[in-house]
Parts: sequence; structure tokens; C-alpha cells
Amino acid sequence: MSKVLIIGAGGVGGVVTHKCAQAKDVITGITLASRTESKCKAIAAQIDFPVKTAQVNADNVPELAELIRKEQPKLVINVALPYQDLTIMDACLATGVDYLDTANYEPLDTAKFEYSWQWAYQDRFREKGLMALLGSGFDPGVTNVYTALAAKKYLDEVQEIDIIDANAGSHGQPFATNFNPEINIREVTATCRHWENGQFVESPPLSTKHVFDFPEGIGPMNIYRLYHEEMESLVKHIPTIKKAQFWMTFSDNYLKHLEVLQNVGMTRIDEVEFNGQKIVPIQFLKALLPDPGSLGPLTKGKTCIGVIARGIKDGKRKQVYIYNICDHEACYREVKSQAISYTTGVPAVVGAIMMLTGKWHKPGVWNMEQFDPELFLETLGPMGLPTVVVDGGEWPEL
Ligand code: NDP
Repeated sequence: MSKVLIIGAGGVGGVVTHKCAQAKDVITGITLASRTESKCKAIAAQIDFPVKTAQVNADNVPELAELIRKEQPKLVINVALPYQDLTIMDACLATGVDYLDTANYEPLDTAKFEYSWQWAYQDRFREKGLMALLGSGFDPGVTNVYTALAAKKYLDEVQEIDIIDANAGSHGQPFATNFNPEINIREVTATCRHWENGQFVESPPLSTKHVFDFPEGIGPMNIYRLYHEEMESLVKHIPTIKKAQFWMTFSDNYLKHLEVLQNVGMTRIDEVEFNGQKIVPIQFLKALLPDPGSLGPLTKGKTCIGVIARGIKDGKRKQVYIYNICDHEACYREVKSQAISYTTGVPAVVGAIMMLTGKWHKPGVWNMEQFDPELFLETLGPMGLPTVVVDGGEWPEL
């Protein structure tokens, strides 16, 4: 009997619930809890499998612990927001349950995301014989697994990685983000950092741009360098990496809107006084923008997320490109969500299956590249995200 408790009923929570229900041979019971229980009930109603629902404030450890004790899951899947990572980890420790998430902890009042806070739980999880798997989404998540695969199978030494995330889809809205707008805008407007020769090097947000020719008919798109959290764990756990960069596509239209919103102060994360009330502009902006969940039926096109790893094989320099292509409309037909939530939610469930079946299980706090990548990818493909490996091509240095 492997019961899971999913926390967060947003775009990703919906996909995770659908996919847990499809994994009946491993997952035998599902409870979906979130701040707004009506959203849990709406997701449960889409699924032909009994899904229990509950209301919970995931900022409150005793409330979470009470829910966990009542539901008795083997694993908590955290797909709420990064602000809740530590409280949910604390509740898992208090109740003796394993933990999985898809994004690293970020304090609400500081746009700073890094693993140090969660890595600090290593001893507490290990001593209790519990496991926490960090960043089991696509990026972070599958991109870490692809890098580990390059290191295990295709290169003797991985020296450089370019993680490239393309959303070649279109939703027809003037401006919308594909996942939680607050998290998305905080990430995109942060100072860029990339890894080079043993340290992170800073540059202004979105100041480095290239055109990259994507495979499988997607074609050339503008990619912009930004900081992304998987680089922090990858350069620690695969220390041969001398250079690591993360790239994402943005349309000119998206960047135009973002620039104006920033210039007028709408992306600020500090409190401002308005009509005798304190508001945080980016939270107000989130309330105005389309709910990413509402983009599902509108979004057409594909995503292409992957890693180009460069290094040495048999004494010669070699490159390997490992990627996945995902179709927005096919995702919507299957789980009523666009590909951004799908590509996050499916790896979360595959991570859960790895833990629940014991294929990936050891006490402590771990990142994805610390386990056998092939075991994960063997399950990821049949669950909806097949992997393409182009071994030994030539891609321009970025
Ligand atoms: P959404 O904003 O759509 O959903 C978040 C959900 O969490 C909502 O249901 C929200 O409740 C709930 N929630 C927020 N605060 C609390 C709280 N205090 N207590 C209980 N529930 C709470 O986000 P997404 O589904 O788009 O993203 C979910 C996670 O996935 C995020 O952490 C995001 O960073 C991560 N992510 C990871 C990616 C990857 O590839 N690794 C890619 C994309 C996202 P309510 O409905 O009431 O607001």
C-alpha cells in the first residue's frame, strides 16, 4: 500500500494527481490538499480514481503534521510554492514521512533561491531514515538526469553543459506566464549567473542572447541566458563541469511587456502602501494576469527542453544533445493541462515511483543527478516524456 499526499492544487498539482492515478500498480491511494479545497475537488472530479481532498495551510507545520498523521501517506509530493518547502520538510520530519519537491526553497521577501536551506536538512533526514528528493520537475529535474546520463554513458568527462528550455507554444494572450506568474517573473528578472572556472559569474538579467536552431521542426528561436537552480547542484555533484549555462526562449512580445511592468514597478516584491493598505505589486499583478491553468485549452505548439553536454570521450572532444519534445495540445487532451505543467508534473510522479519502489531510495536529502539516470528515464518515457539522444553532433558554442 503506497499512499501519497499531494500538496498544491495548481497547474502542476493537477498533472501530478492525474499521473498518480495512472500509476495504480505503485500508488494505491491519493490525497490532494491545498490552500483552496475547491481547486482540489475540481481536479479530483476529472479523475476516474478515488482522490481524497483536504484544506491545508502549508505555511503551518502543526497543521501539516496533523493532516499527514490523519492521511498516513508514505510520501508527500510538494507542488505548492517554493516558499512552503521548509515547512513541509519540517512536517515530514515530525511525522516520519518521505518528501519530494520540484523547486528549491525561496524566502517570500527575497528573490534568492538556493539549495543551502534544504541541504541543511541532510543530517535530520538521514538520522530518521527518511528521504527527501529535491527538484524532481523538468528543469530542475529531468535536466539533472540528462546531465547524469551524459556523464554515465556518453562522455568520460563532462566539461560544459548548456541547458536549453524552449517553449515554442503560443496561447494567443497578450501577456501570460506558463506557470505561477510570481515565481516565473522573479526568476526571469533576477541577476543572471552562470558557472565558469569554479565560480558563478554575474551579468545583468537577460543581457546575453543567441539564436538556437531547435530540432524536430521547431527551428530557430531567440534564447536568453538566466540563472537556474539546477546549475548549483550539478556543479557540486559533477565537479568536472567547468562551464554551465541555462538558456530559455522568450518572445519579443513577452520581453516588451516584462520591461514595461518592471519599469513601472509592478514586478516589485516589497510591500507598498495603497489606499491605506499594504500590497506587494507582484502579487497584485498575479491576480490580474491569466491563471496559467486557464491557458491549457488555448495553447498550441511544442516545448523542447534538453541539455547539450560537451566533454571528452576516448581522448577526443565530443558533444551529446539529450532532449524531450512535448506537445501542448496532446497534454491537454490527456490531463487537461498545457505542456509546462505536464513536463513538471510527470517527472514529479516518476520521482515518486522511484522512491516508492525503492529504485531510488536512501536516507538523506538528495538531488536528481545523485541517482542512476537510466532507471528514471526507463519510466519517464512510458509515462509520457520520451528522451531523444543525439550522440556526437555539432552544436555551436554558446
Ligand atoms: P500554481 O500557482 O498554479 O499552484 C500552486 C498551488 O499551491 C496552488 O494551488 C496554491 O493554492 C497552493 N498553495 C500556495 N500557497 C499555499 C499554502 N501556503 N498552503 C497550501 N497551498 C498553497 O503553481 P504551479 O502549479 O505552476 O507550480 C507548482 C510548483 O512547481 C512551484 O513550486 C513551481 O516553482 C514548480 N515548478 C517547477 C518546474 C520545474 O520544471 N522544476 C517548472 C514549473 C513549476 P491556491 O490555489 O489557493 O493559490
